[in-house]
Amino acid sequence: MPQVNRWFRFGWQGVGLDVPADWDLTRFDGTRAKGYARLADPDVVRIELRWDRPKRSAGFEAVADRAFQRLAKQGDVDVERRTGLAELEGKDTETFTCRPAKGKGSSSYNMISVCRECGRSVMVRVLFQPGENIKAIVRRVLGSLQDHSYDGADAWGAHGMQFAVPETMELDKGLIYPGSVDFRFLSGKDRLGAGRVALASIILKNTTLEDWFRSFARKRFKKIRYESEEAEIRGHPGLELRGRLKGIGALVPRLVRRQRFLCRLWHCDVSDKLFYFAVLARARNFDSFAAYSQRFVCH
Ligand SMILES: [Zn+2]
Ligand SMILES: [Zn+2]
Repeated sequence: MPQVNRWFRFGWQGVGLDVPADWDLTRFDGTRAKGYARLADPDVVRIELRWDRPKRSAGFEAVADRAFQRLAKQGDVDVERRTGLAELEGKDTETFTCRPAKGKGSSSYNMISVCRECGRSVMVRVLFQPGENIKAIVRRVLGSLQDHSYDGADAWGAHGMQFAVPETMELDKGLIYPGSVDFRFLSGKDRLGAGRVALASIILKNTTLEDWFRSFARKRFKKIRYESEEAEIRGHPGLELRGRLKGIGALVPRLVRRQRFLCRLWHCDVSDKLFYFAVLARARNFDSFAAYSQRFVCH
């Protein structure tokens, strides 16, 4: 049985799971309503997640029937149903195991879940290789599934960042590169961004935190006039940028009042990464959105 030294709370589009810390997001698609995410360890794919919001009248049986019909159509999979690997409060679930009928390729532990509270359906697929015993890990992964927010916020967690955004915000862009991650969210005119880059101490040898951010965020915030102030953020040395949209604002002052800007930048010396969390929002949303910067976990 492989040992897991560290776990991570993965969160994506309102779906959350405990995963071994080295299983991380490599692919995603879709929206909060319906989508897909894939996690891999350094070598192989480990988890595939699909979520949807079927019509309420469909119910668990209909969702499960459809899933098993799809599997039967594939024809080359042996399915063992009702394996009892996990039970979740407030959700109808079934766990099952798939093995390749001809003995080649990876097998998977699976769970179908339909939430009685929010109606969301989630399919979790955890892949394993022949001879690999990861059942205890899978129990924790499946048993930790969460599929809705409790306080109007979605918890996001991937690539060493954990943060929350209002559940009404949609992911506009998720950019994942070696060493850097940048997630941008939209809700009407309001924007929120969270990201980080690795090897902070090397970057800071040649540039300042503020200049780094200016080149990292490039055009995105160039229309913003802001002032910066040193601040301690999440226990680390950082900067707080506060300002507002410039430009046409001078002619139309009312517009200016609608869009305020806050950005927190910091150097997490524990993970040796630079982080940012930025909000550009109309006055009525600004304070509540800005408060989300308190929910960022960097190490
Ligand atoms: Zn739910
Ligand atoms: Zn930190």
